[in-house]
Amino acid sequence: MHTEVIKFKGERNNLFIDKVKELLPEGGNLNLCLTCGACASGCPATGLEGIDPRKFLRMAALGLDEEIFSSPWIWMCSMCQRCIYVCPMQIDIPQLVFNARSMVPREERPKGILGSCDMALRNERGSAMGTSPDDFSFVVEDVLEEYQEAQPEFADMEAPIDKEGAEFFLNQNSREPVTEPDEMVPLWKILHLAGVNWTYGSKGWAGENYCMFMADNEAWEHLTRQTSAQADALGCKTYLNTE
Ligand code: SF4
Ligand code: SF4
Repeated sequence: MHTEVIKFKGERNNLFIDKVKELLPEGGNLNLCLTCGACASGCPATGLEGIDPRKFLRMAALGLDEEIFSSPWIWMCSMCQRCIYVCPMQIDIPQLVFNARSMVPREERPKGILGSCDMALRNERGSAMGTSPDDFSFVVEDVLEEYQEAQPEFADMEAPIDKEGAEFFLNQNSREPVTEPDEMVPLWKILHLAGVNWTYGSKGWAGENYCMFMADNEAWEHLTRQTSAQADALGCKTYLNTE
């Protein structure tokens, strides 16, 4: 167990945690911590930067706002929510992390996440890679053909884009068509073997949403609405989220 000491920097206040408590149903249980450590034991971000979820919560309770906002740890939480499941008091730590991120000035948030979010906002696919419509359809068709030919049992497999009336609207991490196109195929095969009627969309097909991880609510909502609007326009009944 990491025992790094928390160093106090400025004056103490409880503005951050109080503000978050006001936003969450029943205060997100943020003041009910038993300090049992169950959250820390299963957290993938435990020990990074000398912090874990229990310590993070203690820092917030102690009013170490400045230390929290300047800590890289708040950007290392994967929002997996494991801590909530194991916490006897169901304390919503990832929501607290999310709110901590949103308090950091936008231009000071991690460049990688910021750049990916902004790129996704600049194109109708929502692609953090900025993949063009032509490139996406070329790669999908090319990979599909390759597998249809190489594996005769999948000769009838489909990977449609903008198929109207498909049951499922599928999204795709936009890194895959660019850097690992073969990674798209296992899911195509599963859907094919299950007899599922599905489609990608020419708009909103990118599944990742870095704006959510960046705690930019407006941008996150924009990307989500963009992709769901395309699913609606095609008449798809179910949104299949791979991310
Ligand atoms: S599991 Fe819950 S109660 Fe236990 S230390 Fe973590 S936040 Fe506190
Ligand atoms: S949501 Fe964040 S704090 Fe909670 S277990 Fe996952 S990574 Fe850790």
